[in-house]
Amino acid sequence: MLKGKVAIVTGSTSGIGLGIAEVLASQHCDVMLNGFGDEKMIAALQARLQRQYKVKIGYHGADMAQPDEIHAMVKATRRELGSVDILVNNAGIQHVAPIEEFPRAKWDAIVAVNLSAPFHATQAAIPHMRKKKWGRIINIASAHGLVASRHKSAYVAAKHGLVGLTKVTALEMAGSGITCNAICPGWVLTPLVQKQVDERAHEKRIKAKEAELDLLAEKQPSQQFVTPEQIGKLVLFLCSSGADQMTGSSLAMDGGWTAQ
Ligand code: NAD
Repeated sequence: MLKGKVAIVTGSTSGIGLGIAEVLASQHCDVMLNGFGDEKMIAALQARLQRQYKVKIGYHGADMAQPDEIHAMVKATRRELGSVDILVNNAGIQHVAPIEEFPRAKWDAIVAVNLSAPFHATQAAIPHMRKKKWGRIINIASAHGLVASRHKSAYVAAKHGLVGLTKVTALEMAGSGITCNAICPGWVLTPLVQKQVDERAHEKRIKAKEAELDLLAEKQPSQQFVTPEQIGKLVLFLCSSGADQMTGSSLAMDGGWTAQ
């Protein structure tokens, strides 16, 4: 379905981003990976995806907190893979603490990676998409882009901001062939959430499995985790012609979290 297209998936060395990259590659899309991680692990991941799906898989180590590095990544993608047709702004970080105790540096880092980075990447990618009169910008927001939780001030503010950026991008791109939508996942069991599960297990003196169920019971009525592959399949739909007129939307995939 995506043969000849090139995608950048930020934060794709782990979790949801990796799931999205894999689904795109499975549909013959060339992919530029990005994110932190061990050099050998990343090289092995590139080699596996290339072998398994017979597509080109690049890697760029841009730090998403650095605008110049983001622009360099978009440039490198054009140079190495020939185009930038799909941009998935996925890289994200979390810190959990009450406002009175929230470290300033954590606030700045979360806003930089979760909100400013999608802006910089969008700005860098749009000119290439305009030339082709086709493009897909997909922002991985969160249920926390639609509703709040205590102790997540920076994350909730950044994700609400990302939903807003999605709408502005959609309006400015309307009619150009470029769409912009946000996906708002509920709990997905990735390293980002595993840390919260472990903290909960420690605080409540319960086993990790019990802590997982406790976490789900609090917010997610299905009491089941969303998977990276399921999010990847929604990305795929947004890249299809069926979604040509879908833009500015925020799509919850959250086991019913935000229906409550
Ligand atoms: P994760 O920790 O498994 O992966 C995060 C990825 O981002 C990694 O590849 C990491 O290397 C990369 N990254 C972090 N900081 C970076 C930086 N400065 N520069 C470049 N790369 C950086 O997390 P995840 O759960 O897969 O989260 C992915 C996205 O999904 C995030 O935006 C997160 O907010 C969002 N999300 C996650 C959940 C969930 O339950 N896991 C729910 C809703 C939304």
